[in-house]
Amino acid sequence: MKILVAVKRVVDYNVKVRVKSDNSGVDIANVKMSMNPFDEIAVEEAVRLKEAGVVSEIIVVSAGITQCQETLRTALAIGADRAILVETDTDLQPLAVAKILKALSEKEQAQIIILGKQAIDDDSNQTGQMLASLMDIPQATFASKVVVADGKATVTREVDGGLETIALLLPAVITTDLRLNEPRYVTLPNIMKAKKKTIDIVKPEDLGVDVTPRLKTLKVEEPPKRSAGVMVADVAALVEKLKNEAKVI
Ligand code: AMP
Repeated sequence: MKILVAVKRVVDYNVKVRVKSDNSGVDIANVKMSMNPFDEIAVEEAVRLKEAGVVSEIIVVSAGITQCQETLRTALAIGADRAILVETDTDLQPLAVAKILKALSEKEQAQIIILGKQAIDDDSNQTGQMLASLMDIPQATFASKVVVADGKATVTREVDGGLETIALLLPAVITTDLRLNEPRYVTLPNIMKAKKKTIDIVKPEDLGVDVTPRLKTLKVEEPPKRSAGVMVADVAALVEKLKNEAKVI
């Protein structure tokens, strides 16, 4: 059984992003880029499924500029078998990525397609859901536990009220939540081994996908600065402020 994992190259989660002076977007010049943290969890889960003998091949996919190859190499070092870069300079939106993943999943006949629940740059939380819809296959979003056996996946989902467990027939789309696993550290020998693994490069046109953006960003702004805190003299003063200033009680 093949598993396809989507990995996005994003601004590293430790970087404090700055908005460009013309408010057209976030400044990513000379900024450290890394694999989207939820996608690292997705790669780790795929490797664990392979180690458990459930899947036979892990294919990682990234869509974007040439430098996404670095992200793919990291995924190969964690334990993926081969990689595909869908190369484009166009700024990709979730629908375009979902169409790309659909084309590749069908071509590869993947039984499980695993993505992060959201990319930490656009925070869209859309790609997995759109992919399942376009492919007309089941989806389990926000997974915190995945068990695959007998042609089905049993997935525990993190929902508002607690946990929900659902069973899905394969092929299916799964999106990862934070508690699914703790990704392993990439070791030097595995980084060396990853250099020998294949990265195929294709263009969206080769897959018959039109990636033209459908949405236009009008303006990007910094959040308002938080005002400094104040010390209150006693509990009565605190209650007075919560009641009359913050109006929360
Ligand atoms: P989003 O819907 O943008 O929040 O992204 C959800 C997930 O879709 C990410 O965690 C990735 O697994 C996948 N994804 C989004 N954009 C890309 C991309 N350009 N290349 C590969 N995977 C992506």
